[in-house]
Amino acid sequence: MAALKLTINGEPWTLRYVQPRSVKGDSGRCDYEKRRISLRNTEQGIERLDTLFHELFEARLPDLDHGVKDELAALFAKATWWALME
Ligand SMILES: [Zn+2]
Repeated sequence: MAALKLTINGEPWTLRYVQPRSVKGDSGRCDYEKRRISLRNTEQGIERLDTLFHELFEARLPDLDHGVKDELAALFAKATWWALME
């Protein structure tokens, strides 16, 4: 799948899928220097959405409490999944 170009806080970012080893077994990674979000290509469905939202919060709101990022990511993933499946 081709990378997606995103503008986050006025800066150009890239979103891409990678092999699990590229994120050292984690679900995703947010690289501030390269302005790049990497998502493990083995996750699917609601799990993939959860990681995507989490990393977007990491990119845009780095100072936000990590537990809040997790909570919001889970909420957004669940609600988005429900909305798309209707
Ligand atoms: Zn995180």
